[in-house]
Amino acid sequence: MDNQALQQLTESISLNFFEKPFQHQVTFNKRLRTTGGRYLLSSHNIEINPKQYEFHGKEALIDIIKHELVHYHLHIAGLGFQHRDRDFKVLSEKVGAPRYCNPLPNNKHRYVFTCTGCSTQYFRQRRINIKKYRCSKCLSELQLTRKV
Ligand SMILES: [Zn+2]
Ligand SMILES: [Zn+2]
Repeated sequence: MDNQALQQLTESISLNFFEKPFQHQVTFNKRLRTTGGRYLLSSHNIEINPKQYEFHGKEALIDIIKHELVHYHLHIAGLGFQHRDRDFKVLSEKVGAPRYCNPLPNNKHRYVFTCTGCSTQYFRQRRINIKKYRCSKCLSELQLTRKV
């Protein structure tokens, strides 16, 4: 996916979920490390970490775009656009945007475990005993989903 396709995707998500146009620019930024994306207050542009797409796929990319668009539309409307703001919570729920995005592995992480209940991902340097360890959020079993 290139920047042009990303722009189109973002514009259509904006119209479909927020019923408002996205009139600024969205680009992939390879220099982002662990964050999935960011909204730039000064320019109203959005930057997306390409690793989110490579690593977690299109669904995760759409989630991040939605999340950044929540910042974007609230900021432009002069409402509370920060994670802790009530407006942010309400709009996130309305459009189905996650409050936080999936973490990305750093270069030491070799194993990815995914919760079978809530799909939270855990990155580890070593293999863990999945018979012993459970998801810390919902206590469901974990599954080894990827060896990096
Ligand atoms: Zn955010
Ligand atoms: Zn879980």
